[in-house]
Amino acid sequence: MASLAGAHGLVVGVANRRSISWAIARAAGAAGARLALTYQGERLEDNVRELSETLESPLVLPCDVTSDQQIAEVAAAVEREFGGLDFLVHGAAFAPKAELDAPFLETSREGFRIALDVSAYSLVALARAVAPLMDRRGGGSIVTLTYLGSQRVFTGYNVMGVAKAALESAVRYLAAELGPRNIRVNAISAGPIKTLAAMGITGFSDILHVYRERAPMRRNVDAAEVADAAVFLLSPAARGITGEIVHVDVGFHVVGI
Ligand code: NAP
Repeated sequence: MASLAGAHGLVVGVANRRSISWAIARAAGAAGARLALTYQGERLEDNVRELSETLESPLVLPCDVTSDQQIAEVAAAVEREFGGLDFLVHGAAFAPKAELDAPFLETSREGFRIALDVSAYSLVALARAVAPLMDRRGGGSIVTLTYLGSQRVFTGYNVMGVAKAALESAVRYLAAELGPRNIRVNAISAGPIKTLAAMGITGFSDILHVYRERAPMRRNVDAAEVADAAVFLLSPAARGITGEIVHVDVGFHVVGI
């Protein structure tokens, strides 16, 4: 396993123990990193605080990624406590349930705005806030989470597919601009995993089933596999990789008919 010994990281997007971001936080902690975790609103604070007790001296902070003020407060707290930052994990995504249930043609202007704001723009806002902290360390690594619904049509994924396409494009633009500062930006395109966000997608169990039948490895992926790939991308072992979308999906993306 790649080492994150001595590194400091910020992990955004932990809701509960099933969250992919939590699997990444655990793996990053085990690889030697000290972490700041954020939670969205008081509703999730207890969950995140309880989970974080298993980590070494974590910072736990509120952060609704639609709030520039909260993002600035997180960056300030990380600067005070860690004096800089080596990596960021971005695992926040949201689309109103009505937009996922209705035909894509019926996507509302407000639903589109919310999905793109939370799921794609937030990467840009967070990257801007943490880049100066990464400059203090001579560079850094940013990893976000995406899904194949950005490239192909998955029934029920709808506006979230458009948001993931924007997110993946943002990865490339950020990678190009931040590369000269030795800050790398990559995404993991994960196969379907049963989490809180996934349960909002009608027919999600059918998607899991199709992967088991058709993916080259004939099974589903688990969050620990995504987490191990994330630790690699966050670590110096991936120092030559940026602007990449790495598929951790038991090979499903290569399959045609
Ligand atoms: P999850 O546990 O529900 O995580 C999604 C997180 O985003 C939650 O913590 C959620 O908080 C947070 N979030 C939503 N709105 C936010 C806001 N305004 N500010 C801050 N945080 C906000 O589900 P997950 O499956 O692990 O999702 C993590 C990432 O992986 C997402 O980008 C997702 O699209 C991606 N992904 C998931 C799968 C899958 O099959 N599960 C596959 C590929 C990619 P709330 O619970 O409060 O909304």
